[in-house]
Amino acid sequence: ISSKLPKHQTSIFSVMGKMARDHGAVNMSQGYPNFETDERLKDLVTKAMKDGYNQYAPLAGIPQLREQIVNKIESLHHKKYDTNKEITVTNGATQALFLAITAFVQQGDEVIVLKPAYDSYEPAIELNGGKPVLVQMKGKNYEVDWNEVKQKISSRTSMIIINTPHNPSGKVFSENDMQELENLLRETNIILLSDEVYEHIIFDETQHHSASAFPALAERAVVCASFGKTFHNTGWKMGYCVAPSELMAEIWKVMEVNVFCVHHPTQRAFAEYLKNPEHYLQLGKFYQEKRDRFLELVKDTAFKAIPAKGTYFQLLDYSSITDEPDVDFSKRLIKQYGLASIPVSVFNKNGLDQKQLRFCFAKTEETLVKAAEILKKIT
Ligand code: PMP
Ligand code: GLN
Repeated sequence: ISSKLPKHQTSIFSVMGKMARDHGAVNMSQGYPNFETDERLKDLVTKAMKDGYNQYAPLAGIPQLREQIVNKIESLHHKKYDTNKEITVTNGATQALFLAITAFVQQGDEVIVLKPAYDSYEPAIELNGGKPVLVQMKGKNYEVDWNEVKQKISSRTSMIIINTPHNPSGKVFSENDMQELENLLRETNIILLSDEVYEHIIFDETQHHSASAFPALAERAVVCASFGKTFHNTGWKMGYCVAPSELMAEIWKVMEVNVFCVHHPTQRAFAEYLKNPEHYLQLGKFYQEKRDRFLELVKDTAFKAIPAKGTYFQLLDYSSITDEPDVDFSKRLIKQYGLASIPVSVFNKNGLDQKQLRFCFAKTEETLVKAAEILKKIT
């Protein structure tokens, strides 16, 4: 057979997850919490099933949930999306991203991707006949060189993808970053795909600047979000995207033939649960405590950290320990020491290796302590 993704390799998350299981390692690799989602949320899903919400939902999602999401975005970012025309509930953010790329990337189109980048973007672009055009974020603070982005825009550029708060770096795009992007895109037909799955996991004085809050971005943006990250249930695969109605109409054409709609009882549950904003507004504080605890625990190790500003990932620099490539070092960490992380180079342009590993700190106190005990032994 002729492969449509000839160079595609198994996701690093599957590779490291399997290695972690095989070696019984403390697992801080793939990003998911090792604690439970709220019992009340589980009860709401069960209740919805018992109440008979077990058949297809509307394509865009049930109106009660769409309304809750639209209200949430309005209160946080002062942008009012149309509940009936500008939102779709999806099978996680991964599907939202795939729908947008499939709807808008045509054969031969170029799509600008800022590296390091989450690993589903480029294969999705390639499956649709597009060409990823990569721009590396610079230095250990992962700054975007907007001039370089400008130079990479061509007559074939149909989309640019951003991710803020950013996986794997923990960087959060500043207001200035978003304004630079606005200036670049204002006079173009380029669609912005804004991956904001960690929107509520944000620390210190940092603010999340959603593309929906910037008029010249919102008018061309598909903004993607994930309930899995926000409500500690990544396995439920529930998320959504919002976009102006002309864009959403195209996304619906793809959605219709892709899955038609997503799990109905879970939508009922989230529609109820989202009525209480505390359920997501507390999340930054909750994860900041975990980040701070992890940073405190690793303070006296040979690993160096620049504190993450958002997401549930912390990068640790191991350059004072060894100059081994990060992929080799992360594998050795599992086999020799029993601790699993993610090497950052796999998300970078040309595999750029800054000797950094990504640790997911969405973990219990016990796991964080165990991990730190291991890290202390490595010198
Ligand atoms: N984008 C980013 C940056 C992510 O980290 C993830 C989750 N790993 C996703 C998208 C996918 O989200 P979901 O699990 O809701 O599909
Ligand atoms: N987003 C998760 C991470 O970055 C992984 C999700 C996946 O395995 N596809 O760890």
